Amino acid sequence: MSPLLSAYEAIAGSSALTQLRRLGEKLAGLRVVHVNSTREGGGVAEILEWMVPLMRDVGVDASWEVIHGTPRFFEITKAIHNGLQGKAVDLPKKDWRIYQDVNEENAQRLRPLLEEADIVIIHDPQPAHLLKLCPNRKGKWIWRAHIDISRPFRPVWKVLRTIVDKYDASIFSMTEFAQPLPHPQFLVPPSIDPLSEKNRELGPEEIAGARTEFGIDPERPLLVQVSRFDRFKDPIGVIQASRLVRKVIPVQLVLAGGGATDDPEGKAVLEDVMEAAEGAPDIHVLLLPSGAHTTINALQRMADIVLQKSTREGFGLTVTEGLWKGKPVIGGDVGGIRLQVVNYHTGFLVNTPEGAAHRIRYLLRHHDRAAEMGRIGREFVRENFLLTRHLRDYLTLILAIRSGREERVVFV
Ligand code: UDP
Repeated sequence: MSPLLSAYEAIAGSSALTQLRRLGEKLAGLRVVHVNSTREGGGVAEILEWMVPLMRDVGVDASWEVIHGTPRFFEITKAIHNGLQGKAVDLPKKDWRIYQDVNEENAQRLRPLLEEADIVIIHDPQPAHLLKLCPNRKGKWIWRAHIDISRPFRPVWKVLRTIVDKYDASIFSMTEFAQPLPHPQFLVPPSIDPLSEKNRELGPEEIAGARTEFGIDPERPLLVQVSRFDRFKDPIGVIQASRLVRKVIPVQLVLAGGGATDDPEGKAVLEDVMEAAEGAPDIHVLLLPSGAHTTINALQRMADIVLQKSTREGFGLTVTEGLWKGKPVIGGDVGGIRLQVVNYHTGFLVNTPEGAAHRIRYLLRHHDRAAEMGRIGREFVRENFLLTRHLRDYLTLILAIRSGREERVVFV
């Protein structure tokens, strides 16, 4: 077994690795191309960062391409993203035209590679139009939706649907997101890499160093939410919750985030967050540079509770990251967070700032319960949300698609 894969044996178990090796043997040399719209920032880039090298490691000829776009293109695709997550957005025909034109420019560069590939996996809506622009494609094309499209704003889905229904298959993170489409749909929840800089074990000095750097008082409890500054992550609701808790417990809050290159809205949201946090020295709003993985790791590890109070969430890798670090997670009762926060077991699901405040107070007063939830959460991630399971699902569904059988891959 290769050194890259075998490093996971102690964490994921040897039978998981044997399965991967066997699947890899069946797919050896297959050309698989992943395409998304950003090399860094956000969960998709986070996953592709490990997925592509590991696919290569088991013998698949995998590669990762990123489409380029103008600022206007990314404003439009952010509106498409928001629309798919249920927000009423205005997307006139001319915007869809820009969307298509930018895809066309990228197709000119990528067409030879994509048309030759055995499997093309297109992540999210930004590059989805590439399929129509590769008329001589040889392989199977899969659309991988990472976002919560359980209740899309219909006019946006109506247009996007005409694009994605030409694919050979699609992948969603959970059943609720699946849509009526004329091809097989697979269910594959995402995962984390336990050995990455973001998730590896840290020594006490590394955690203490970050604590000092950001002026966190070790004597008082700490809440941490890490996310892009995006309205669906509800950073304002998190600030409200911490202010409510602050009335009775001297809690500190870290809201840490940065931008993704395909997310132009971050600046405006950050300004609102700064305003909401004004005059509260215990609320630390951290604008992190890309690649601040060790810092995020340390912040999650120093937290008493990890929060992810989203109002829409495709999956929420930050939830997985928090659970893996043995923290109870209080998350919005939406999307993929529901797959991970098992209410009363690995954390609490909440719908309002008041609800979040209530659960935060409870966990800060019941340390044993919080620690127990953290322990259960870590094992839950080990069973379900590590990259070995994720890679197995991808390899299995590629096998299924190539053999033409309409099977669903369901995680267990
Ligand atoms: N992340 C990061 N820096 C930031 C904000 C987020 O590295 O400033 C990471 C975070 O740790 C997680 C991923 O980006 O690994 C976010 O994935 P998630 O599924 O939570 O949300 P998305 O951004 O994809 O909506």
